[in-house]
Amino acid sequence: MQRRADWLRVDIGDDHAHLPVIDIDSGVPGPSAVVTANVHGDESSGVVAVHALDRWLQDSLVRGRVRLYPSLNPRALALNTRRVPHDGADLNRCFPGRTGGTASERLAAAVWASIGEVTPDVLIDLHTDSAGSIPYTIVDRAVSLSGRARTRLDTELLKLAQDSGLTVLLEYPDDLYQRFALDRSLAGAVVNRLHKPAVTIEAGPRGVVDWDAVSIMRRAVHGVLARVGLVDGTAQPDASRVTCPSGTWRRGTTARTRRAGVFVPSLRPGDRFRPGVVLGVVRDLVGDPLDEVRAQSNGVVVSWVDSPWVESGQVVGTIGIAEEG
Ligand SMILES: [Zn+2]
Repeated sequence: MQRRADWLRVDIGDDHAHLPVIDIDSGVPGPSAVVTANVHGDESSGVVAVHALDRWLQDSLVRGRVRLYPSLNPRALALNTRRVPHDGADLNRCFPGRTGGTASERLAAAVWASIGEVTPDVLIDLHTDSAGSIPYTIVDRAVSLSGRARTRLDTELLKLAQDSGLTVLLEYPDDLYQRFALDRSLAGAVVNRLHKPAVTIEAGPRGVVDWDAVSIMRRAVHGVLARVGLVDGTAQPDASRVTCPSGTWRRGTTARTRRAGVFVPSLRPGDRFRPGVVLGVVRDLVGDPLDEVRAQSNGVVVSWVDSPWVESGQVVGTIGIAEEG
């Protein structure tokens, strides 16, 4: 077993970023994996989860090697902010990046090149959603492939996500997936440019290190790495802390309010619903109801937004729509 910690120095215009990179090699031939965290700077539980994975893998890696990136956006971590501070861009819509581009594009390009050195068999990207969220694993859409190649990768992605032990959420349908540039997220770019499986794990709130989320992430990564054959065992979700409705769900944008006000959810994250059920109510500050947000299909509540005040037309959370057939 060999462990090496290093820094990736990235020239991002008139500043530099220093990204921590940790390589763990079992010394036994096998697959390779990459685990990344903190592409969004205010999503800090993943940083601590990667540190926990580092210690755990030194005892548990049975074959192959793993490269860990505890923070892809350390300056934003320091400011506890989501976006890259130099240009305000969402780093998770910039992959594979561009050398000589904006600060975010340069950062993405450096990360992309570094990941390419490993030629990973799987990439796992750790994120957090909101305080009102169940943990879940996102499956990207392999929109760059078609026919049998797409089916093969889609199947592999689904199996890996299921082995995380968390609720599985398929990304938006192809047209929305591309309109929202999700093929330029880190996981989306790995799927659509390297044609390798990548999953995004979301657990816990933003802005704080949440120890339940750290534990959930570590266990979920265990499950995914076990499927690839890097470690033994399976994911062991902690039932006392995790609500994980099983089944396959598709991310929906249909939970929107028509009025501005205070959004009060009627259901808890993890609750299932049927068409017509009231998901939540928008009230004015006197307490009078202004609008009801109703379900349009069968589904599950994945997360509610952190901000209690919602604007007219705003999406109030992430819901999973039952994937038929
Ligand atoms: Zn994120």
